Amino acid sequence: GWMLMSYVDDVLTRVASQNPDQPEFNQAVTEVLESLRPVIEQNEERYRKEALLERLTTPDRQILFRVSWVDDKGQTQVNNAYRVQFNNAIGPYKGGLRLHPSVTLSIIKFLGFEQIFKNSLTGLPIGGGKGGSDFDPKGKSDREIMAFCQAFMTELYKHIGADVDVPAGDIGTGGREIGYLYGQYKRLTGRYEGVLTGKGLTFGGSLARTEATGYGLLYLTDELLKAHGKSLEGKTVTVSGAGNVAIYAIEKAEQLGGKVVTCSDSTGWIYDPDGIDVELLKEVKEVKRVRLTEYKKARPNAEYNEGRGVWSVKSDVALPCATQNELNLDDAKKLVSNGVIAVCEGANMPTTLEATNYLQEQGVLFVPGKASNAGGVAVSALEMSQNSERLSWTFEEVDQKLKDIMTNIYQKHQPGRKRIRSRR
Ligand code: GLU
Repeated sequence: GWMLMSYVDDVLTRVASQNPDQPEFNQAVTEVLESLRPVIEQNEERYRKEALLERLTTPDRQILFRVSWVDDKGQTQVNNAYRVQFNNAIGPYKGGLRLHPSVTLSIIKFLGFEQIFKNSLTGLPIGGGKGGSDFDPKGKSDREIMAFCQAFMTELYKHIGADVDVPAGDIGTGGREIGYLYGQYKRLTGRYEGVLTGKGLTFGGSLARTEATGYGLLYLTDELLKAHGKSLEGKTVTVSGAGNVAIYAIEKAEQLGGKVVTCSDSTGWIYDPDGIDVELLKEVKEVKRVRLTEYKKARPNAEYNEGRGVWSVKSDVALPCATQNELNLDDAKKLVSNGVIAVCEGANMPTTLEATNYLQEQGVLFVPGKASNAGGVAVSALEMSQNSERLSWTFEEVDQKLKDIMTNIYQKHQPGRKRIRSRR
């Protein structure tokens, strides 16, 4: 007989040829299918017959739309916007909205694809989707943000619903933006329903949603270290980013006895040998919404450097919490030569494929964002539950459920655990 090309290779070739200008989407698909290869190859015939991988890698639908809004000078601005509804096999499409000038269809598709697996890992009934726009919130007034969000929702509302598709925050979309979006949804439809998560506490939001991604990352990291006879106590931690994920990762890492010495934003990074002052960081980033140079001004012992460089700092645990492909092979080599024990992803796909492979070859404990940053969407699903039963749970209740979900993700899905036998 002759060798047929494997099903995984067939599908990777097909995805590459159908999406030639989508590097991030191809990267995310390659990472997942390569890691699933041994499982898929045990069931190749059936998987191929049912076209499981073609269906998994092709979104249910992709909505591409224009958003036009008027800036403070009276100039009309136009942005490209997206909602990719990837897969709703286990529940309504669920995933955030990213507002950043780097947003393309490729970025939204990679994020939506990852959301399928992450959401499933939480054990809660939510499918995968993602959306966003190349709108740049930086330097915009509150009124401009509002005008954009209202125009964005004026198209999006036709495609979403509490049992259909439930968007939330991501880079550039926080509580303020969700508020503007939700207000416009209600204005357009007259419906009070849990159509967005990450809402304010005064209109149906959940306690602990703001903290959830960062706290969840640390609950899982703590579990990982404990399983290897270690703990966070006394460990030096490097964190990148200074947004919602990074801030609450830093807060929980410090509560668990770790010393976090770095954070970063799009223009530079901080090295603070005394440990990041998280209350000051919140003041700079959540209240004043300014650059990290403001953090440096209030901390004489801290260093501020332009550009990137967090991964050159010696640490035991590294938590990339900024954005995709922010930790490359050179960074991974520096981390390893400085003795890093664990890398757990707070952002989505922050580690390049080459860096991921290198870290794993070197025996570094590595947890992909699909598992380690699932706390955010998990608490979003808990917000949906609370909205449906018209109740709100205490912070402690939600935090305990988050802890249980993250522990469960680690314990049930760690590498090396005996694979589930196929039923044939
Ligand atoms: N944007 C977050 C993520 O990457 C959360 C999405 C959500 O809460 O729906 O998982």
